[in-house]
Amino acid sequence: MKCEHPDCGAEADILFYCRYCGGSFCVNHRDSNMHKCSPQQKSEQTTGTSPEEAVKQFVYRAAQAAQQAQAQQQPTPVTFASEEEQKKYIEQRLVKSSGLFSLGSELVDIIFGFALIVLVFGFFQYFYREDNKWWGFLLSAVLVGTAFLPHELAHKIVAMMRGQFARYILWVRGMMFTLLTLIIGIGLIVPGFVAIVPMSKQMDKRDIGLVSLAGPATNAVIGLVSIIFGFLTHYGVIPLAGLAASPNIFILIAQFNALIALFNCLPVWQLDGAKILKWNKIIYFVLVAINVAIAIPTFILNPGFLNVT
Ligand SMILES: [Zn+2]
Ligand SMILES: [Zn+2]
Ligand SMILES: [Zn+2]
Repeated sequence: MKCEHPDCGAEADILFYCRYCGGSFCVNHRDSNMHKCSPQQKSEQTTGTSPEEAVKQFVYRAAQAAQQAQAQQQPTPVTFASEEEQKKYIEQRLVKSSGLFSLGSELVDIIFGFALIVLVFGFFQYFYREDNKWWGFLLSAVLVGTAFLPHELAHKIVAMMRGQFARYILWVRGMMFTLLTLIIGIGLIVPGFVAIVPMSKQMDKRDIGLVSLAGPATNAVIGLVSIIFGFLTHYGVIPLAGLAASPNIFILIAQFNALIALFNCLPVWQLDGAKILKWNKIIYFVLVAINVAIAIPTFILNPGFLNVT
């Protein structure tokens, strides 16, 4: 099966049926605002105006009927007895989709995906640091646990709250990018992502906006709390000693959260920022402003970021 987006045509085992235009699209183009969605209902609402209109509509309907006859050769859409059954079906198709894979359960996938991120970051610390080489893996685990993981889980939780199916799944190409990053030192670290599939209703701009906002907004909240502890410990109001003190672990957590939020706020590709901006410009700029406000003091207090000596 092929994605019907003209610039895509990706071969996919799982395609999403758009109930507005009746097209089938890949994960990236399934939302009605990701493809040129022209609802068919429009033509049916404007029935019987002029003879020319009637002829046009007749031709249009005939073309549609032909299309539908073709479509019927494909497997018919499945109906479900319960929501649980629908979720099970979506899960099965998602896991079997080309380009995605699962090690069994979602929890195992999450642990594997995030362990890979810890390894990649830890590996760099191991090579760049002169002393405490293994400290990098510990630091990576802290940063992944306080920034990456909350970001992804926030997407999942909000999607589920909005009535969608959401599951973290490993992504073959993303894992290859991640391993490549390990070798050449720069690249993309995305072993998996939260796949979201519409259940009862198609997601509108607001749904997509809220689900996208959840990730960077979570980073902003964690960043704000951490920067407060960062200030308090940096200026000695609260004492901080040992490994956590050099560099200040709270400032690092704030820095990392702000950077992840700001990267994901870039209004390009399929990043969170593009979807938030499409939904609400004010929320987008407030979100970016908060994360910039967190990032600036962290770089003043810890200019070296991860390259600590
Ligand atoms: Zn596509
Ligand atoms: Zn559509
Ligand atoms: Zn995100």
